[in-house]
Amino acid sequence: MARTETTHEKSAGVVSLIDTLIDRAIRATASDVHFEPTDAAVAVRFRVDGHLVDVEQIPIVLLPNVVTRLKVLAGLLSYRVDIPQEGAVSRECDGQVFDLRISTFPTIRGERVAVRILPRTSGTRELDELGLSDAVRTAVWQAAVQGDGLVCLCGPAGSGKTTTLYALLNRLRMERPTASFVTVEDPVEFRLDGVAQIQVSSHGELTFERALRSLLRQDPQVLLIGEIRDRQTAAIAVEAALTGHLVLTSFHSGNTTDAIVRLLEMGIPPYQLTSALRLVVCQRLLRTICADCNGAMDAEGNEICESCMGLGYRGRTACAEAIRLDAALRSAILDRSDADHLRKLIRNQSGYATLAEDAQRHVDAGRTTQAEADALHCTRDRDGD
Ligand SMILES: [Zn+2]
Repeated sequence: MARTETTHEKSAGVVSLIDTLIDRAIRATASDVHFEPTDAAVAVRFRVDGHLVDVEQIPIVLLPNVVTRLKVLAGLLSYRVDIPQEGAVSRECDGQVFDLRISTFPTIRGERVAVRILPRTSGTRELDELGLSDAVRTAVWQAAVQGDGLVCLCGPAGSGKTTTLYALLNRLRMERPTASFVTVEDPVEFRLDGVAQIQVSSHGELTFERALRSLLRQDPQVLLIGEIRDRQTAAIAVEAALTGHLVLTSFHSGNTTDAIVRLLEMGIPPYQLTSALRLVVCQRLLRTICADCNGAMDAEGNEICESCMGLGYRGRTACAEAIRLDAALRSAILDRSDADHLRKLIRNQSGYATLAEDAQRHVDAGRTTQAEADALHCTRDRDGD
């Protein structure tokens, strides 16, 4: 005869359900887990390689138990269901430690919970394992070893700019162990030994501008500025680059030409920009075909590949285009040429491959699909010129 589960049994079931889901997410290298209340169920979604995947539907009656369990884990107030809350907890899975940042948000269907998964290890990667072409990697390294000037990585959010900047910083640190390295970021995304890392905030007292002004007096040789967001930060970055510092930074723009035009629009005088800027790299990430199921093509019947949860992709690789500030481009910038003219000159640079051409390199090598490379065009079009 069927009987109703007791409250105690229900919570015990939910505790192990949440544990299992979080471990599954960690093993799937998910960056986030969402618990989203819908009319019929709590939809559980993982963000893997930047894409949200539905993984589970929990009966909606269990929503309060699910939310309470997650709140207890993060040390949040379980009886407050009307305010957003944020907390953290660490978790060990397969011998590795992860920080879980848990946030709750009240919606009309109940509380929604998001769990961000952050590996405790530094997470920095090697410059040559990111997927960049030899040409781009060489251009980046050659620009960096000059010791001063501005190296600018551009692309939309989630295009791996910070990972590349850190890979570069890490390699520079090994090549020049006695140099002084400083990063100024909002927020600090990776931890690196031997580097002074400063977290700034656009709302707080320590803004990018203020931190950078003071820092330049501390004589750093290599400076990583998380992102150029405003004209003040742009001006200081250029000033630092012109006074003997190597400045590595990122810029939110769709393509390389756009980055140059926008820096000029931010009030950087052309003669300063042409003297400071060494290299502009525009980067995107492409999902790579899952090696275990060969892109779900080997999966038999209804069996879903565990490695990629049936998506056919696991992991990501970078593609990029890099432009050097050569004499032709410099004089065009000094003449305040328009974006079209700059683009033409860039196209003529020897060894230059567009972002789309570089993405095709990964398709041709069988690392990703044509569909994934084609999706890049859409992103680029959306970002506009
Ligand atoms: Zn797979």
